[in-house]
Amino acid sequence: MSEPRVVKICRNCKSENIRKDADAVWNPDTQEWELNAVYDRVTCEDCSDQSNWPDEKPYEDDRFPMEEWQREAGGGDTVLGYLDWRAHKIESES
Ligand SMILES: [Zn+2]
Repeated sequence: MSEPRVVKICRNCKSENIRKDADAVWNPDTQEWELNAVYDRVTCEDCSDQSNWPDEKPYEDDRFPMEEWQREAGGGDTVLGYLDWRAHKIESES
C-alpha cells in the first residue's frame, strides 16, 4: 500500500499557503526554466514563519469529509484515525 497522502501546513498558523525555496536553471534545448533543486526552507505566505519542518495533516478525501469521521468518532462508532476510517469506507463500498 502506498503512503497515506498528507497536506503540508505551516507549523505556526496551520495555513496550507506555504512555499518551498527552490531554484531553476535555463535549459536551451527545451527553452524552459527547469527545476534544479528544492531546498529545505519553507515560508508561510500568511504569517511569514520560516522553518525547515512544516507540520502536516491528513489529506482529506472529498468523498469522505473529515466532519463525518469526527461525527462518527464522537458518537463512539469508530476509534480509527481519519485515514484508516477512509480506507475502511472505500473497502466497504466495493
Ligand atoms: Zn503560517
